[in-house]
Amino acid sequence: MKKIVCEKCGSDEILITEQLNPNDDTAIRRYFADAYAMDGGLCFCDSCMEQQRFHVVDIPDVTPANPWRCERCGSSDVQQQAWVRPDTGEVVSFNDCDRGDYWCEPCGEHPRLVRESELMATIEKWFAGDLRPNDDEVISGLNRNDFTTDEAFETACKEKWDARDTESKIGIWRELTRNLKLILKYR
Ligand SMILES: [Zn+2]
Ligand SMILES: [Zn+2]
Repeated sequence: MKKIVCEKCGSDEILITEQLNPNDDTAIRRYFADAYAMDGGLCFCDSCMEQQRFHVVDIPDVTPANPWRCERCGSSDVQQQAWVRPDTGEVVSFNDCDRGDYWCEPCGEHPRLVRESELMATIEKWFAGDLRPNDDEVISGLNRNDFTTDEAFETACKEKWDARDTESKIGIWRELTRNLKLILKYR
């Protein structure tokens, strides 16, 4: 996302004056697009209380603590339909009554969305009880024959798994469970 701020103090409480045609209802939208393109132009900064140059800055995407994810593939690159004012881009409300209103970009489908905590519970359950033979070797990169007991091997696998971050666990789950679906389909 981008934001327009005062070059001197960084405030976004600024005014950019431009002549707009009141009969042109696309003017406001174009105005914002133009302002981004006019990086370095003049504005009036409400914090500095004087004229300053303005800057277009990138605002980093903030990941919420428990983001929504696609139930099917685990991606957080998901979308929800909303009512938006066409002139200003202001979001008025979200359509959250119908599951069909969600969209997963990587899947290209309308999946159910779940909170990350819900998905991770599913994935941890899968790791604890639903692995196929050899999955744990694939996940850990360890060889069962290098261990004297099955228990020692499983403990080492679990340690490797627990050291992984959320995104990496989701990636492994996605790869292995999708392969499972393909195997079942072609068997
Ligand atoms: Zn300022
Ligand atoms: Zn998906």
